[in-house]
Amino acid sequence: MLHFRRTISCVGMIGLIPLASCVGKDPNTNNEQSAPNVIYVFPDQMRNSAMEFWSSEKYASHIRYKGDPVITPNLNKFADEAVVFSSAYSNTPLSSPHRGSLLTGMYPNKSGVPLNVNSTRPFNSLRDDATTISDVYSQNGYNCAYIGKYHLDAPTPNDPDKPGHYVEERNPVWDAYTPPGKRHGFDFWYSYGTFDVHKRPHYWDTEGKRHEIREWSPKHEMDIAIDFLNNRNGQRDSAKPFFMMISMNPPHHPYSSLDDCMEEDYNLYKNKTPGELLIRDNADTTMAKAASAPYYFAQVTGVDREFGRLLKALDSLGLADNTIVVFASDHGETLCSQGIDDPKNSPYAESTDIPFLVRYPDRLKPKVVDLILSTPDIMPTLLGLSGLEDQIPGEVQGSNFADYLLTGKSEVSLPQSALYIRNMDGEKDENGKVITYFPETRGVKTERFTLALTINKETKELKKTYFFDNRTDPYQLNNLPPDSYPAEMKMLLTELGQKLKNIDDPWFNEKILADMIPYN
Ligand code: CA
Repeated sequence: MLHFRRTISCVGMIGLIPLASCVGKDPNTNNEQSAPNVIYVFPDQMRNSAMEFWSSEKYASHIRYKGDPVITPNLNKFADEAVVFSSAYSNTPLSSPHRGSLLTGMYPNKSGVPLNVNSTRPFNSLRDDATTISDVYSQNGYNCAYIGKYHLDAPTPNDPDKPGHYVEERNPVWDAYTPPGKRHGFDFWYSYGTFDVHKRPHYWDTEGKRHEIREWSPKHEMDIAIDFLNNRNGQRDSAKPFFMMISMNPPHHPYSSLDDCMEEDYNLYKNKTPGELLIRDNADTTMAKAASAPYYFAQVTGVDREFGRLLKALDSLGLADNTIVVFASDHGETLCSQGIDDPKNSPYAESTDIPFLVRYPDRLKPKVVDLILSTPDIMPTLLGLSGLEDQIPGEVQGSNFADYLLTGKSEVSLPQSALYIRNMDGEKDENGKVITYFPETRGVKTERFTLALTINKETKELKKTYFFDNRTDPYQLNNLPPDSYPAEMKMLLTELGQKLKNIDDPWFNEKILADMIPYN
């Protein structure tokens, strides 16, 4: 069924007129309005602070920590044209679980993807029967394109060139080929599962042909995306609107040599000391990983340049005004903060706080919003902005904040917190394959506090508490005793219990830590 924004007059005319000419009156502006194109760009491991504009006066008051000393001229300009989220939160700050929530609007306990996808966890794979954001756009007359890293399908021995074999020999297998039947409405495909050699990437195209590339992956992927925009080879039906996701791996490890980034970008950082690059109060510049900082920021600057090329192409094709462009990330990067090597998957701000900027020149006024945006909110909000609010699947757990972004008012109440979730491997079968997940840590992040509770796998008793007052301690240096703020702690635990109940989380179903967490 076709269902464009305010296109009731078009519905009876399908087949007679091209879809792009389906227009209607916009009641807010009384202007003619056609279904917008949507482009979602998400580098993998880019923390919120790694955007230069946060250091400028206009933006700095919206975050409590310092912006990184990074150079991002294209994002700076884009921010001035966009709705900039100060508080977008990656609830499960890990590749596959984040992506599962992004595509389905559901938390990892419902998306099919509670853990990172690889061959040791065959049950852990995007649900074939879920209706994803791309399914909805496709069902509503869009061309849908996926370019870059996917990391949502459990690898199976389905190499198109070597049937019966996995696409790589490594054990466990991380990379994967996604066949047409598992592409969820994406009719243009140029993607891979997961692969971390940034200057020797590979991709499978729509027909399943493998392409071996010898250039920096973000550059190559943007060439493919710009070709798609130009419709050089008939990649799309130019009469239809399109939805395109571009998933760049950098910034992402490895980040240790010129094999990982462009030299021109490295040159911008190579003469700076670790102390000049790692300026957060919680950064340990004596860690071995400190040597990665110039490469990490070089990757960010390279991604910024590629994003700028995309924006320029949209402008030159006259598509910018009616195209929603999002810039976001999977999760952040700790980069020597908190003294931990794991760049992600922790409840620390460096790991959970992500860029989220939305530009829609026809309809959204540029501003900074402090809305606490959770990953499952992204799908319904984008569908809402596209006039497809009636098409949001009933299973979706996130909220549609389109009205709030468009008008500043919201019929749904604005969130006071976001859930934090970390899962680990659970039971294994006789072959060593993981068959369940262990819901190890749950928590909430409010405007002021971060609380996360980790349980022991055997006893299910409390093992560790993370409790930070981000107002007085934005770098989370002081893990507070749980009784520091009794009233606030009670409020946080009540909020946590309610949210776990709302999403039907295993902690609610098993009444984990019921002596602390009120589940009613
Ligand atoms: Ca990731």
